[in-house]
Amino acid sequence: MKLLFEKSVKGSNFFRFPLQNLPVIDLQETIPEEHWRTSDLGIPELSEAEAVRHYTELSHRAFGVDDGMYPLGSCTMKYNPKINEWAASLPGFANIHPYQKTYTVQGALELLYELQIMLSVIGGMDRFSLQPAAGAHGEMTGIMIVRAWHQSRGDHKRNVILVPDSAHGTNPATASVVGYKVREVKSNADGRVSLDDLKEKLGDDVAGLMLTNPNTLGLFENEILEISRLVHEAGGLLYYDGANLNAIVGVARPGDMGFDIVHYNLHKTFATPHGGGGPGAGAVGVKKFLIPFLPSPIVVKSKDGFYNLDYDRPKSIGKVKTFFGNFGVCVKAYTYIMSLGGEGLKEVSQHAVLAANYIKHHIAEDYDIPHQGICKHEFVATSEKQSEQGIRTLDIAKRLMDFGYHPPTIYFPLIVHEAMMIEPTETESKERLDNFIAVLKKIAQECRENPELVKSAPHSTVIGRVDETRAARNPILKYQE
Ligand SMILES: *Cc1c(COP(=O)(O)O)cnc(C)c1O
Repeated sequence: MKLLFEKSVKGSNFFRFPLQNLPVIDLQETIPEEHWRTSDLGIPELSEAEAVRHYTELSHRAFGVDDGMYPLGSCTMKYNPKINEWAASLPGFANIHPYQKTYTVQGALELLYELQIMLSVIGGMDRFSLQPAAGAHGEMTGIMIVRAWHQSRGDHKRNVILVPDSAHGTNPATASVVGYKVREVKSNADGRVSLDDLKEKLGDDVAGLMLTNPNTLGLFENEILEISRLVHEAGGLLYYDGANLNAIVGVARPGDMGFDIVHYNLHKTFATPHGGGGPGAGAVGVKKFLIPFLPSPIVVKSKDGFYNLDYDRPKSIGKVKTFFGNFGVCVKAYTYIMSLGGEGLKEVSQHAVLAANYIKHHIAEDYDIPHQGICKHEFVATSEKQSEQGIRTLDIAKRLMDFGYHPPTIYFPLIVHEAMMIEPTETESKERLDNFIAVLKKIAQECRENPELVKSAPHSTVIGRVDETRAARNPILKYQE
């Protein structure tokens, strides 16, 4: 496919503003001569129709959850109901400005206020900030709150955050960005936090533990109450990475497990299109004793029902994002929660867990599954059984694309060799799950009978095997030097 620059034909942009009734300003007269451009602008020239066709063609080459199943583990690429988009584009939400006086945007403030209450109820927390723009940003906000809390008590010796070896990469990255040292806690043989190792790693230098539950293997941390007791006894706080919340919404609450601070990925659990850079929202919730440290402002409701912004919060860690965060994502999450209700949300998790177990059960003969037993909303398989034919997880992921499926997450979590992490989400029908299972079985058969076919996949995509790292290591972002 040609680039816009290659399609450009000089003089083909015929669009002109109708100037008849406008005062004509001679720009050359108003701008001093030394500022005039001397070189060509160098932007492509195409008719409107050709430009639209170019982008439409590009859009056909992309793959999204509206094209097919997207079982990218940990990312929760569920179908996003279109009613959410409708709500977010209502003029009263889409056309307001954050500098408007609060009395002119009472509806928007009410939505934010109510959303944070709903999120509090869902997680067993006391107060939420909707400012952070993504999960990783929520983590940063949360760990800044951990630090602010220790410092407010005059405890300056704690400089370590504990992170399990199964954690998402953003957890250690966050701790390090906020200025902490990272100390890894090992997993035990069944894929959960090793209590023995945790006890060894705890001490009076530990500020807190970051944990996701269920963890990145899709396994619930059954010992969470004991973990919570140990961390608190050592003087640390417990941080919940809520990226996997969609496995337990309406069933269990991080607040009841002992977590002091949580983030939810509104764009994962509460249905917003994401990937390719967002936008997202990493709402951060805390227990009562940490409310003063939340980012400012928070939306408050006065006795007469008026919504206002509270900036007068001296212990706050400050602002982490302009204005109110990604407001549109909050509208979508609100719509999603309201359209499902409490019972509906519970069913979301139940179906997500059922779908993952259904696939896991049906492919167990064809693929190695290192951690047995019931999983939550996702599970990890490997290509161990295919390794005799010299096939790697990467090959299987590439071959899936030939059958119209987005590959699962691969080579994560790091503690499983040749990992393939599958999260179907609750929005796939049984027919779709059956087809996905059939395809995985067919690929396993191909691995046995015609391994070259799998090793050289994909065969049906516009571009075949690409160098996995070159685009990141050697990006060429300009058409011309
Ligand atoms: C997605 C994810 C994150 C990071 O969230 P972003 O919104 O992508 O910044 C953190 N932890 C886990 C387990 C995740 O799956």
